[in-house]
Amino acid sequence: MSYFRYNIECMSGYTPGFQPKQTDIVKLNTNENPYPPSPKVLAVVADTSAEALRRYPEPLGESFAKTAAGVLGVKSEQILPTNGGDDLLNICVRAFCDASRPVAFAEPTYSLYPVLAAIQDCPVIAVDRSQPDALDKLAKAQAALTIVCNPNAPTCELTPIDAVAALAKRLAGKGVVLIDEAYVDYAEDNALRLIERFDNVIVLRSMSKGYSLAGMRFGFGVAQPSLIDGLVKVRDSYPVDVVALRAATAAIADQVYFRANIEKIKSERIRLTTALRTLGLNVPATQTNFLLAQCKTKPAEAVFKALSEAGIFVRYFKLPQLEDKLRITVGTPEQNDRLLEAMKTILTAG
Ligand SMILES: *Cc1c(COP(=O)(O)O)cnc(C)c1O
Repeated sequence: MSYFRYNIECMSGYTPGFQPKQTDIVKLNTNENPYPPSPKVLAVVADTSAEALRRYPEPLGESFAKTAAGVLGVKSEQILPTNGGDDLLNICVRAFCDASRPVAFAEPTYSLYPVLAAIQDCPVIAVDRSQPDALDKLAKAQAALTIVCNPNAPTCELTPIDAVAALAKRLAGKGVVLIDEAYVDYAEDNALRLIERFDNVIVLRSMSKGYSLAGMRFGFGVAQPSLIDGLVKVRDSYPVDVVALRAATAAIADQVYFRANIEKIKSERIRLTTALRTLGLNVPATQTNFLLAQCKTKPAEAVFKALSEAGIFVRYFKLPQLEDKLRITVGTPEQNDRLLEAMKTILTAG
């Protein structure tokens, strides 16, 4: 006999990227930002008073919502702060899906989506994103919740926002479209302008990648208040703590620091892409802070292991369409140099 619900007993949990303890390593496996958060973030964290810690935080994270709304050009009542972007994904699956209300997405994509569906015990409609009619299939599926990761992880490309809008239109009145924009800070477009047009669109943002706050756990959703109000019923009573609220507010307010960081990573991603192509890997253009590099001369898994032994950590997925590829986070110039040097040695060895 199991104490767990049958679906929990049967499922495997989410596998997070490896977090090594050693310090003299190059960590390019979980798409963290290689640069620290703004100094203003560290200042407000250090300044947090005992009184602020003693009291419960703002239930709706109003101070963050107000600042973020100003920066993003939306209304503060359209913003829902959450405990990381993953928390918003979890809330949405719980709010919209059940045994007769499926979640749909195009694979390969973020491996957390099917895990959340398994916990909720709702059906998954997974379409093949390498097919040109993937979005059409998602529209026809008419799922209660359709998740579009944009730019997509781990394949790096941005689906044109017009195509996402067309999907939202076809699903209007039938299902919600959750646009996972965890990597949008590195992309050339975003879907925020769809919020005014569609009452079935939620845009997910994360402070983990572009804003260097993965350890803080802060994300948010942007949607019309009719959706936000429903999601508030499902979430924790105080999902974001006072330190995270202060840090995220200072981070999003410091757009000058943020933009400079993003530009550094964008210029390194061009250099890294070119250098890996020169080493014989197939590297498509990317709209994120990582590359999906196809190994053509050696098995990707063998290259992954050899890199790990050299203290360089990247991500390998033994999954359809991914087993011949490595996902490599763009690091600092020094980290990228060490990766390239090790890659060269591994690829030229017997
Ligand atoms: C990182 C990530 C998120 C959110 O991460 P949080 O750290 O929980 O904010 C969501 N979707 C994708 C695809 C991601 O890579």
